[in-house]
Amino acid sequence: MDSRRAGVVTLLVLLGGLAGCGAVVEQAESLTGGDEHPFAGETVTVAVEGTDRERALVADGLAYWDHNASEYAGFDVEFQVLAPGATPETGTDVHLRFVETVGACGDTEFPAGCAPRIDASTGVDRPAAVEVRRGLADESTRLVVRHEVGHLLGLDHTDRPRDVMAHERDLATLSQPNATERANPWNDSTLTVALGGAGEVRDRYRAELDYALEYVREGGDGAVPADVSVRVVESETADITVSRVSADDCTAGEGSCLFLEGTDPDQDGAIERYTSAEIRLVGLDTDAASWHIAFQLVDTFHTGDDPDRLDDADTRERRGAWHG
Ligand SMILES: [Zn+2]
Repeated sequence: MDSRRAGVVTLLVLLGGLAGCGAVVEQAESLTGGDEHPFAGETVTVAVEGTDRERALVADGLAYWDHNASEYAGFDVEFQVLAPGATPETGTDVHLRFVETVGACGDTEFPAGCAPRIDASTGVDRPAAVEVRRGLADESTRLVVRHEVGHLLGLDHTDRPRDVMAHERDLATLSQPNATERANPWNDSTLTVALGGAGEVRDRYRAELDYALEYVREGGDGAVPADVSVRVVESETADITVSRVSADDCTAGEGSCLFLEGTDPDQDGAIERYTSAEIRLVGLDTDAASWHIAFQLVDTFHTGDDPDRLDDADTRERRGAWHG
C-alpha cells in the first residue's frame, strides 16, 4: 500500500568570484608567462579560520596543488598552512575562512566556495580571501578547497583538471538524520495540500479532504507535531497533491499509494527532507477518501505503529465519521 521513491539530490555549486565566463582557451595558451603569476615559485602561507579538522582538510586539499600546479597552472608553488594565530614575517598570502553560508559569489545560487581568480594581470591583494562552506563531508571539503585554490592559481571553469575545476559538482554534506528519523521531515511546518484532477473531481473530494486535514490538524493522535499546519490550496505546486488514478498508477489495486520525493544532501541513499508527496487514490468510493488521505499524510510523519484509529478501522468505519 505504501511505496516510496527516492528523489532529487540537491546540487551545490562551486564558483570563483572573478571567474570569467568567456574564455575557452586551453590553459597552456592562456597562461603564457605563467611564471609571472604572483604565487609562482613561492611558498604561499595560508591562514585557516576554522576548526582543527577543517584546517587538516585544507592542508589535504592544498597538497594536491603542491604536486599538480606545474602541470595545470604552469608554475611550481608550495602551500604552507599556518598554525592558529601564527603570523609570518612576510605576511599572510591567503586567508581561508569556513562559513555557514558562502556570500554572493558571481551569479551562482548555492556556492560551496568562493575565491578570486588570480593571474599575472590581476596581481594579488594579500591576503587573498577564500570562503568555504562549512558542514560538507570530508571529500567534498577537500574538493572545494582544491577548486577554489585552482582559481587562486589562475584557472577557471574551462580549465583542466576538469574534475576539479568543473563549475558544478555534486557535493555531500556531513551525515544528517534521515526523513524517517525526524519528527517533522518536511522543510517547514506549513504544508499545502491540493486536489488534482478536473473541477468536478475536486468538488467531490473536497469535503473528504477537509475531514482528513481536521484529523491532521488535531495532531493525528500524536503522530503529527503540534507546530505543523496544513491548508488547502488550488495550486499544482502544493507540497502534497491528492489525485484519483487508474489501477496502473498505484500498486494497492484498491486503496491508496504514497509517493515521496525529497533531497539527500549527505548522499547516503535515503531522503533527509521531503519536498513533495503525492497521495494516489485508486478504485475507492468517495466516502473512503478521507481515511486514506489521512493515513498517507500521517505516514509521512512517522515510521512506527499507526495510530489506532488508522490501524484498526474496518472497511465500514473508514467510510463513516472515523475520527469523530
Ligand atoms: Zn569556481
